[in-house]
Amino acid sequence: MACGLRQIQGLSLTISPPGGPLLSVFSHRLLSRLAREPRMTLAVLVPLVLLLIQYGLFALGPAVSRPTAYIVMVAAPCIVLVLAAARGMSEGGPVRAGWFAIAASLLLWALGAFGNLWQEWVLGRVNEMYRDSMLAFNLAAVPIAFVLAGDWRSGRRSLARATDAAVALALGYGFFLYTWEVLTAHGTPDEAAVTHMVWLLDLQNFYLAIGSLARWSAADTPAERNLFRALLVYEIVYLVLVFYNNHFVAGDPAFGPEQSAIITVAFGVLAGMALWRPAGTTLPRPDPRLVRMVRSASPMLLAGALLIVSLFVIRIDYAVGTAGVLIAVVGYTLRTTLNQVVHIERGDILLRERSELQTIAWTDSLTGLANRHFLDQALGQSVHSQQESDLPFSVLMIDIDHFKLLNDRYGHPAGDACLREVANVLRRTIVRPGDVLGRYGGEEFIALVHDTDSAGALAIAEQLRTAVEALRIENLGSPFGVVTVSVGAASSGDEMPLAAAELVARADRALYDAKRAGRNQSRALAVTPG
Ligand code: GH3
Ligand code: MG
Ligand code: MG
Repeated sequence: MACGLRQIQGLSLTISPPGGPLLSVFSHRLLSRLAREPRMTLAVLVPLVLLLIQYGLFALGPAVSRPTAYIVMVAAPCIVLVLAAARGMSEGGPVRAGWFAIAASLLLWALGAFGNLWQEWVLGRVNEMYRDSMLAFNLAAVPIAFVLAGDWRSGRRSLARATDAAVALALGYGFFLYTWEVLTAHGTPDEAAVTHMVWLLDLQNFYLAIGSLARWSAADTPAERNLFRALLVYEIVYLVLVFYNNHFVAGDPAFGPEQSAIITVAFGVLAGMALWRPAGTTLPRPDPRLVRMVRSASPMLLAGALLIVSLFVIRIDYAVGTAGVLIAVVGYTLRTTLNQVVHIERGDILLRERSELQTIAWTDSLTGLANRHFLDQALGQSVHSQQESDLPFSVLMIDIDHFKLLNDRYGHPAGDACLREVANVLRRTIVRPGDVLGRYGGEEFIALVHDTDSAGALAIAEQLRTAVEALRIENLGSPFGVVTVSVGAASSGDEMPLAAAELVARADRALYDAKRAGRNQSRALAVTPG
């Protein structure tokens, strides 16, 4: 079988690559970019130099290459885990956890490689698969699966993270149990068992690569994009190298650690991605629908994968398999519930903020009364309900007399204080539920009073006027010596219904009459039908 696969590989090598000129354009672009970005040069040079050293040592013959291969397979993930952790330290926000998870994955991988080294050097067993090392290699997928499932935006969701961690861990362990069983079902692994297990590993790597692709395509911040780009490139290179190594090289009788050490290329690529920080290019924003899809589906896919793996594990170990199914179901339920809770919370917050914003949008910031925007709406509604109920309704327009003189003499801050005091006293007079008082603009106020005809309106106008006068706010520029107001009133429903604009125009005319008559007076406009 291995021979057949090698033939396929030979075939693929005889196909000449179609991209000759394309390749030279690409390398030209790469070189000019390297010249512009020193960090990118570092990101390319560091892994390249390390890999050159590795293959240089391999060239020195089996006495050097064999121990070198074991050492580099421990050292390479260790170097990259330091780089990933350093990158995590330099990143803020949730992306930091992503880089740390990559570092944790590499640590587990390095432990697996160390296990191999130990078996070979200390225990003298050659070219075998060791249970603990296999477990470590499988568990190396756990932090990555955890990162792929994680939601990056919402903070303080420790329960969601703990759930993801438990599901990812169970997935990693369940997957290991199954693959190990496949391998050792008939005692020493035969070729069929190895092939079966190798395909399972490909499946695992494919799952991680597809997950990384989804998260990368839906990442909408530069930091998140960089993280998932790094993970995607690493997972693809890892997938390809493991596939190539396991399917085409491992069957060779001359197979040894030097061949397996090709995996350091994947670590080299990841080192480059951890070192490289793309200069602030603005990326096209991903489709919001895709972002929502990926964000909602990722945690569920983790539980789904655990469920499938656990169903296979049940055949080997009933208790562990059942526990896996349980964890998957509980994890799924918890995650869905938590998502739901977060959405309801967000909905509540949005509603509250909306009503707060609405209050701000409808309030005059100086006096705290309703503003012009609110008054316009309230006026329209009042006129409408007046027409339906047939009860009279009045508009009072209140304007401070000689306010410009007050401003000129005492300054604008004093003018503002005066506006607030006048507003307060008006507020104490217009108290009936349903009546509205607002600042119409400048030093003008409007009161909308329901169930009030023109006689009633005039009475209220007088109350307002005397209340302001009684404040005795000094205004020596005015002939009255104190702050006073003039009030104009117009009513709808006395003799005929009036439109909002017409009512305001009439109240304004009545106000003008009061001003012309000497100010500090109230006037109601007589309604003349037709
Ligand atoms: P009249 O008796 O005819 O109403 O004369 P007036 O001076 O009150 O009216 P005029 O329209 O000539 O001046 C209104 C002044 O109100 C002018 C403007 O500077 C002042 N004003 C408008 N809004 C504010 C404000 O928010 N704060 C202060 N301090 N002054 C304001
Ligand atoms: Mg005015
Ligand atoms: Mg005025």
